[in-house]
Amino acid sequence: MRWFPRFHHPGFDAVAEQRQIVEAVLRSATALVAADDDAQQLIQRHCETLTQLAPHIVLAWTWFGPPAPDAIRPQVVAGSASAYARDMSIQNNWLTRLGPAHRALAGRRLEPFAVSQRSLYGPWRRAAQDHGVKSVLALPLRSSVDDQRGLFVLYADVPRYFDQVGLGLFDALAGLFSAVLSRAARNNELARAAHRDALTGLANRRALDLMDPGARRLTPQDPPASLVLLDIDHFKDINDRLGHAAGDDAIRRVAQLLLATLREGDTVVRWGGEEFVVWLPGLDAVRAQAVAEKLRLAVAEAPPPRMTVSIGMAELRVGESLADAINRADRAMYAAKQAGRNRVVLSEHPQGRVSPGPPPEGVQVPGQASSP
Ligand code: GH3
Ligand code: MG
Ligand code: MG
Repeated sequence: MRWFPRFHHPGFDAVAEQRQIVEAVLRSATALVAADDDAQQLIQRHCETLTQLAPHIVLAWTWFGPPAPDAIRPQVVAGSASAYARDMSIQNNWLTRLGPAHRALAGRRLEPFAVSQRSLYGPWRRAAQDHGVKSVLALPLRSSVDDQRGLFVLYADVPRYFDQVGLGLFDALAGLFSAVLSRAARNNELARAAHRDALTGLANRRALDLMDPGARRLTPQDPPASLVLLDIDHFKDINDRLGHAAGDDAIRRVAQLLLATLREGDTVVRWGGEEFVVWLPGLDAVRAQAVAEKLRLAVAEAPPPRMTVSIGMAELRVGESLADAINRADRAMYAAKQAGRNRVVLSEHPQGRVSPGPPPEGVQVPGQASSP
């Protein structure tokens, strides 16, 4: 076996070794970025650190947006030549499509771009003239969660800077940014999902807490607000006769009927199993009652399998919370069941039927007419 002196190992390139290690460290950092930071702020900080530690990188900017943007405008900007990026807007045309930004966005091979005062593209000539830019590297950013795309673009005042330092290093940084953006997108998705009902896609109970003025008590200055509580009649029969999956379908169908009948701005919430709350901001009892009646008819007159709903409704009283009003609507709904189902009862008149439903013997059991 041959013995090599420690400091004269043939073929050993300390600088190359360094690059590898830095690259490795960055790759682990990808997995370790602090969890609760805003993505934009985090990337801003990374870009500032980079341009401070490597002053030959005179500009670093990032953009994030849809896969086919009309124009790309830097969102995060760092470095001594930041001014150059301030009003930058890279349109999508035949010339810019040959440039690094759109090439990277299209997923082309990682290739640094040489810039000179004789460049074809006006902004490159300015970059070279005003900021001494000699080479540019654009890297794609990718969210693994949604179909958003991004760019991380670097400008150096040394020719062939990026080849010399090693593209892997910058690729690793882009990986870090992609991870940060993916996590932000995932967090957004989770926040959205937390307020959605998985079966119907409707808002869930938690979403109702965000409604104004539902989340607080109604004041005399507030416009009126009403809510409607619907419960599918004899729903157990659907489950028993047709199976749980058909029951799920029925719930989805009612959800769609409600959505199709309501206006934008009204909120349908899946309140429980086969119960829905419709939040009607701006409507007093009289107008809300008309909406409730429309909803009742939309369900009762839908094509088979025949279904009906019993509806209780309440207009929010001054000083009342959403929960109080829902309790009143629930009692009114129960009164509607007692009175024969398929009808609307306003909470102020728990005994009085607001809408004349069909006579009790005329109430059909859902599922009866549905067997093919
Ligand atoms: P009523 O007219 O008095 O409302 O009679 P009902 O049969 O609808 O009675 P109730 O409201 O008490 O029954 C609701 C049933 O809905 C009980 C439960 O098994 C069923 N259920 C609750 N959630 C779901 C669901 O997500 N899917 C299905 N298929 N069934 C559900
Ligand atoms: Mg029920
Ligand atoms: Mg029911």
